[in-house]
Amino acid sequence: MSVEPASLRDGFPLLAATPELHYLDSAATSQMHCLALDAVVRHETTRRANVSRGTYRLAEAADLAYEQARQTAARFLNASSADEVIFTSGATASLNLVAHAFGATLGRGDRVVISVAEHHSNFVPWQMLRERTGVELALIPVTAAGQLDLARLPELIDGRCRLVAVTQCSNVTGAWTDVATVVAAARKVGARVLLDGAQAVQHGPQDVRAMGVDFYAFSGHKCFGPGGVGVLWGRGELLAAMPPFLGGGGMIAAVTAEETTWAAPPQRFEAGTPPIAQAVGLAAALDWMMNLDWPQIHAGEARLCERLIEGLRRIPGLRLLGPEASARRAPIVSFEIAGLHPHDICQVLDARQLALRGGHHCAQPLLAALGAEACTRASIALYNDEADIAALLDGLGFVLRELA
Ligand code: PMP
Repeated sequence: MSVEPASLRDGFPLLAATPELHYLDSAATSQMHCLALDAVVRHETTRRANVSRGTYRLAEAADLAYEQARQTAARFLNASSADEVIFTSGATASLNLVAHAFGATLGRGDRVVISVAEHHSNFVPWQMLRERTGVELALIPVTAAGQLDLARLPELIDGRCRLVAVTQCSNVTGAWTDVATVVAAARKVGARVLLDGAQAVQHGPQDVRAMGVDFYAFSGHKCFGPGGVGVLWGRGELLAAMPPFLGGGGMIAAVTAEETTWAAPPQRFEAGTPPIAQAVGLAAALDWMMNLDWPQIHAGEARLCERLIEGLRRIPGLRLLGPEASARRAPIVSFEIAGLHPHDICQVLDARQLALRGGHHCAQPLLAALGAEACTRASIALYNDEADIAALLDGLGFVLRELA
């Protein structure tokens, strides 16, 4: 199936209703596709009931929809079984789940390796694990362009290393991680690999088995689905050996006054009422994504990214953070303008219908490594077009005239 990227905008109700808006903040939250929105409304108006509890037909319909959503997520990730898919409230919850449940199997003398490029949600849970258990936390540094410094892997990923937890794609620089090299280094010492796919999923379906990772986390709101839902995928045998994170309804085999035994995964990790309609909406978004022409979309996104970087290079006093346009990168472009605060830049741009994000992007260690306190970020998704880039470059000219 062949889809013209420019026409994709029509499938997004918010964008269709605001043709004047240049939405360039999809790394924070992508817009929601109409099929996902419709699926949520249909679910809430025809199948709303709690799951895994009811014996009436409405509840059975809700159960079926929820379990079908799990199967769709498994297909999107090319997981070997839907039982390896856990619905969470988002990537942050997924990452914390691994830090607690896999983390419970670690202790003093074990090492967890993360990178300087991590979003705080793949940074702070590991610092908290270190506080709880005394595991050692080691950091893969980044190069001047913000890419993981892979030359350091052999010394960091050694016999003590039990887990390598890294981002698949930086939310600040757009740098893709060379996952194969990380996985190879981890395999050599028997360590597991957790990939934070939060920024990767809006750029197409993933193949966790081909990548050879052990855990994979992402959020629905960053891949054209609803907020409040995310996925943790984990290899079946690892999930089966992990204790639960949260306790509550739905995650038990049996409870007595003395003790509780756990349900098998994925239920073991889904305590309480899950985000049911959100999971159904997410599945609709993933289904839609699985039918898109990704090579064509990637070519369009790369063209816009290049155009943007070319234009930014011509702005005096502007420093680009991250890899070259020609590098393997996602269309996320961050920059500083000497003497101007990103919040001021974003506010002036907002008045010209440009939605961009300014700040530390929940990646303070990365910004520190790149010598910046804050930056302005434009992130491009499949519904953006040349007009968005032209408006941004124009808008930055206006910012310089107004603020500099
Ligand atoms: N990891 C990365 C790389 C991200 O960009 C984000 C969101 N900005 C997260 C994790 C956390 O995602 P969420 O806030 O949806 O839990």
